[in-house]
Amino acid sequence: MSFSANVEKIKPSATMAVSALAKRLRAEGRDVVDLSAGEPDFETPGFISDAAIDGIHKGRTRYTPPAGMPELRRAIARALSERAGRDLDWEGVVVTSGAKQALFNANFCLFGPGDEVLIGAPYWTSYPEIVTLARATPVPVMGSEVRDFRLTPDDLERVWTPKTRGLIYSSPSNPTGSVYSQDELRSMIEWAHERDVWVIADEIYRCISFGDDQGTPAPGILELPPGSLGPKFVLVDGASKAFAMTGWRLGFSYCDPVVAKELGAVQSHVSSNASTLSQVGVLAAFTDLERTNTAVKEMVVAFSRRRDLVTRLFDELLPAFTYVKPMGAFYLFFRVDSAFTDEIHSSAKFCSWMLEETGVALVPGSAFGDDRWVRMSYAAADAVLEDGIRRLAGVLARQ
Ligand code: PMP
Ligand code: GLU
Repeated sequence: MSFSANVEKIKPSATMAVSALAKRLRAEGRDVVDLSAGEPDFETPGFISDAAIDGIHKGRTRYTPPAGMPELRRAIARALSERAGRDLDWEGVVVTSGAKQALFNANFCLFGPGDEVLIGAPYWTSYPEIVTLARATPVPVMGSEVRDFRLTPDDLERVWTPKTRGLIYSSPSNPTGSVYSQDELRSMIEWAHERDVWVIADEIYRCISFGDDQGTPAPGILELPPGSLGPKFVLVDGASKAFAMTGWRLGFSYCDPVVAKELGAVQSHVSSNASTLSQVGVLAAFTDLERTNTAVKEMVVAFSRRRDLVTRLFDELLPAFTYVKPMGAFYLFFRVDSAFTDEIHSSAKFCSWMLEETGVALVPGSAFGDDRWVRMSYAAADAVLEDGIRRLAGVLARQ
């Protein structure tokens, strides 16, 4: 069977694939410790679910405008304006079916054949695929390991060509957990502005940041002076991670309203609008921000404790394996090439070996652009994490 050129180069999502495999093995009776997918293990805060259930009973079960319910777009714009310290136009907000669709809309509208799009590497596995779906060319840019892979203008300048049209990165980063400081962010964004390059800033993990005890979110682009940011950016965020709402499929983007119109137009043909019920739930989250912030903070405290737990266990039980100290998100990215042999010579082989020998499901670094590394999600209960790492150590410490 042959398929169109649109999908010629597309591979299915590796993160979703490993997680589906772990679920299947578990259903078959295998004892699996699933540390693969990045999905908070908490329940969605009750008042958000209640609002959506109430929405069903009140008949909020019809289409909304493609870019989302105006009251939700306004509520999101108010929260963003507070962060930015200036009034942002609510018509710049487009509500999407997950942050993934916001990324798709942006790439599809901004890039096309002949365009090169720089992607901070190690990258979240879907970025190059989404760029490819837009028929543009993904250009991974590897940051330096000593800087925990955060990019500098020099890294970007080295790969810039006259065809460079965009830059995509995440901070806090999936898969490394690395977080750009305000100054680092500013110099990277100023570089893009000077080079007239579009920035797609994925801030979906912004609230999950361990920089201080107050649960202060990671630095984001809206806090930068408007002069260094310029108009050529699309901010991507959503409810999946911060509000533990992965299955609700609710994300959003914020950008210049002229660009937002294009994003909404694409969406109007692809999905019409994000699920109305999910919009009603997230409207409650953005309306009662005090309650939302309390719920988010509780989750961040748990993620921070787990970060400390997994790094302590690695230091104790797997001292030969280096890792990036996570400052946000909920992933531990660790280097495994020291354990490679003639047989186990790639991150995929390493992960299959670990799954077979220990039942621990991990995602190979090849899915994120570096085959020497592996990603563990620590969005799991403390006891599960401890069990998983002890199982890994039981095999790896024998090597
Ligand atoms: N960006 C990053 C960096 C992610 O890890 C994810 C994971 N789901 C997404 C975007 C997509 O989020 P959503 O579930 O809202 O589509
Ligand atoms: N973003 C999560 C991850 O990286 C969920 C799966 C996905 O959307 O790729 O594991």
